[in-house]
Amino acid sequence: MSKHLLPLVPAGLVVDQVLPTPDHLTVMCRSRITAPVCPGCGHPSSRRHSSYPRRLADLPWQGRRVQIEVQVRRLRCGRPGCTQRIFAERLPVAAGPYAQRTARLGSLQHHIGLALGGKAGARLAERIGTPVNGATLLRLVRRGAATTPVAAPRVLGVDDWAWKRCQRYGSEEQPGPAAVPAVQLPLRPAAYPARRVARMLTADLTVIAAPDRSYVERLVALSPMLATVRDLAQRFGVLVRAPAADALTPWLADAENSELRGFAAGLRQDEQAVRAALTLPWSSGQVEGQVNRLKLVKRQGYGRAKLDLLRARLVHTA
Ligand SMILES: [Zn+2]
Repeated sequence: MSKHLLPLVPAGLVVDQVLPTPDHLTVMCRSRITAPVCPGCGHPSSRRHSSYPRRLADLPWQGRRVQIEVQVRRLRCGRPGCTQRIFAERLPVAAGPYAQRTARLGSLQHHIGLALGGKAGARLAERIGTPVNGATLLRLVRRGAATTPVAAPRVLGVDDWAWKRCQRYGSEEQPGPAAVPAVQLPLRPAAYPARRVARMLTADLTVIAAPDRSYVERLVALSPMLATVRDLAQRFGVLVRAPAADALTPWLADAENSELRGFAAGLRQDEQAVRAALTLPWSSGQVEGQVNRLKLVKRQGYGRAKLDLLRARLVHTA
């Protein structure tokens, strides 16, 4: 048999007995270490005081649930000056101090929670023989996120997404070019009707719906000023879609003599950043993709997931 097979029990444990039933497997174990270290003074001791069983859920075996039962020793520390007279041995590789599952099962369930969230994750976990409730899965996701370092971003993109359509919007900040999303979600009021009109005015008239097209045509016919604005907006659209920093200067000059002078003044203030946006290779495509993922994850939580959980599931599955 291959020596790369996953061992029956985590490292540091010795199997004494395996007790199979049709749908369960109980593996009786003890620690491999003969003289555990006293947490009070750091010295090893093998003076046994008593023992108790500690149960840990483990990875399933051939579809069966597995429970590891470790006979944990309590030991006496006779070291002069040590205040810890009796201590229980730890299982440093197998499981954390108060955990009810092995570290390797915790890691599997953490990833199930990341991929599917609480409810769907709990259904899959049950199906593969590692039953766990949704709340525990989400706790594992949060804890995993808290202990995994995230690299500092180099480039930030920003996009909006609707927390609740037409009412609350958040911004997602996405470090580029292909890194993980950093989520920050300050809420602000929506400006949806104005946006819709603006989108119609800047759209290519050959591709929008007939009622929208006739509305735009009437608007432009009524107002030469609006016609100029529309022309400028479309030129700006071309500028953004086919980035050309050279075209920005004449566009700014024209816009400053139009109703768009406020917008142009704003661009002037950030001219360096605008030019960088037109010449650097980063795009907002990454951000938009991540916003779609964010919406999917949010819907999976039926709108109940709070920011820390959204962040954990976005950042750590990127
Ligand atoms: Zn001690």
